[in-house]
Amino acid sequence: MGKEEILLCLVLATNAFRNLFCEKDKEDQVKVSESVVFYAKSHDPWQAWPVKREHMEANLLVKTLKLFDKAGAKDMIEKGDKVAIKVHVGEAFNYRYLRPEFVACLVRKIKEYGGRPFLTDTTGLGVRARDYGGGVVTFNRRIALNHIEVARSHGYCEEVTGAPFIPADGMYGLDGLEINLENALRNKRVFIAKLFVDADKVILATHFKGHGAAGFGGSLKNLGVGCVTKTSKWLAHCLEPPEITEACNGCGDCIDACLGDCITIEEGKAVINYELCVMCGGCMEVCKEDGAIKVKGANDEQFSVGFADNARGVVGAIGPGNLFYFNFALDIVSQCDCYPVPGTPIVPDIGVFASKDPVAIDRACVDAVISAPGLRGSPAEEKDALDPGVDKFVKIHDVQWKHHVEASERLGVGSQKYELKEV
Ligand code: SF4
Ligand code: SF4
Repeated sequence: MGKEEILLCLVLATNAFRNLFCEKDKEDQVKVSESVVFYAKSHDPWQAWPVKREHMEANLLVKTLKLFDKAGAKDMIEKGDKVAIKVHVGEAFNYRYLRPEFVACLVRKIKEYGGRPFLTDTTGLGVRARDYGGGVVTFNRRIALNHIEVARSHGYCEEVTGAPFIPADGMYGLDGLEINLENALRNKRVFIAKLFVDADKVILATHFKGHGAAGFGGSLKNLGVGCVTKTSKWLAHCLEPPEITEACNGCGDCIDACLGDCITIEEGKAVINYELCVMCGGCMEVCKEDGAIKVKGANDEQFSVGFADNARGVVGAIGPGNLFYFNFALDIVSQCDCYPVPGTPIVPDIGVFASKDPVAIDRACVDAVISAPGLRGSPAEEKDALDPGVDKFVKIHDVQWKHHVEASERLGVGSQKYELKEV
């Protein structure tokens, strides 16, 4: 099947789904009333041999198993359910991503209650990996085959976790279903990665850490950027599709990288057919001519509000009752898992959080990071954010995480008010 036919199928499927979604949305408006956040503290007490039962009970993997039941994730699983576990496998050369052993705990529990778990994630913007020489190749989670390779190398595979890894958005990160978000704050069009709609239940297993443009990355960002196709990722990060300028030299390198098959060379310059542009980011990635492609990027607030819209779209399409959230506040580095130079964590490990409310769980985690002491040798020290009570993410990145948390709350995704219950 040619790319145009594939796109046509996508449009037809999209329209069918949009009708379905509109009906569903009427009866299934996002209403997250329960804002209880359950929490398992990271505190493995030092002990000498022999290891006793109470020592094992303090083990965070053991606590994660317990948390699954106590927090109510088990109540969501019905026998035979296809349960997607949304993970971030970490960029190649990142070594602070979530350890797959924690995800294996979720897999074990889902199977115990009769569900059929699988791990999933979406591709990043662009199409090509970056080669830094000497065998250092990274930023390669851009097509499914490379994504699977990175996932396997980081232990996100059946052999380690007990569940297979299946990319959520197809080979090129474009397999999605478009919905129209009437009450959007910035982006009305949301393209949800197809596999999330195919699943019966979705559990987000989020590594809670910093993020350069959003302040931090938690469940909300995992919904709004992690559960959508390349097109919606672009729409969050940028205000318009790319534009070719007078500086274009007509070399044609961008044609091969274009997933929309929509670039031609006319009178020595590249021309984009915007009817077909899927906003994959391939052209700007390969273009070597300075200033030949202009991109109007979103500022931090626009980006945050844009992915809050996406989060609202994803929650509405899947249904809030079919979603559950785990935030693993461990190895809390300043940058996201897409970053191949992770650095030293900014605070000590905090623990594992679980909730039905993505706003409440993120708020609980960020409050815990603010209350924690910063770690010496990390960006928290460089940015004078070591003291408990200092907002580490704001100090380090100079961006306001409140933008996406407040926007998500306004959109009805959840509540910033929460009750914390330790298990
Ligand atoms: S946009 Fe860049 S890559 Fe494409 S033809 Fe022009 S100079 Fe070449
Ligand atoms: S023109 Fe659009 S579809 Fe083509 S490479 Fe650029 S962003 Fe992607």
